[in-house]
Amino acid sequence: MRDYGLTSILVLDLDVHQGNGTAELFENDPRVTTFDMFGDKNYPWKTRRRNTYDVPLPDDTGDEEYLGLLRAWLPRLLSDHRPQLIMFQAGVDALKGDGFGRLGLSRGGLLARNNLVYGTALEAGVPMVITMGGGYTKPMDASVAAHTDVYRTAAYRLSAWHAATARATAAGA
Ligand SMILES: [Zn+2]
Repeated sequence: MRDYGLTSILVLDLDVHQGNGTAELFENDPRVTTFDMFGDKNYPWKTRRRNTYDVPLPDDTGDEEYLGLLRAWLPRLLSDHRPQLIMFQAGVDALKGDGFGRLGLSRGGLLARNNLVYGTALEAGVPMVITMGGGYTKPMDASVAAHTDVYRTAAYRLSAWHAATARATAAGA
């Protein structure tokens, strides 16, 4: 952080398990805001740590409620903390049918989740690091597809953003 002169980083942890390690690492670091939406009945139970914001969710939360919460939180996180970098933990174990996850999101719901996160970051011009997490469906095809969605959507949104920026520059010139 020091090397890059960063004073505000936002960790967006949307894996279904609470990120207790990340929470503990940055517990006393005011430069790092940790936001975590996770399944309340999921591991870890006794070893949770406190994030800046913890949003525990009940079993079978489903797309609509999940996306509504995320849509409400994202602008608030950005305006309150003005992050210079977002670390997106894009776990896909919130997917319905996951062996561990209990939130019951559809593939389309996760896709909408990704789009919400990417759209927010692009609009605010905040760079992002995307990391994988979770995904335990059997067979694993559904988890693989959801992981693919995370990166394919990121590539698509970024290239669309570049194209729009290039058009705007050309129109302005
Ligand atoms: Zn997980």
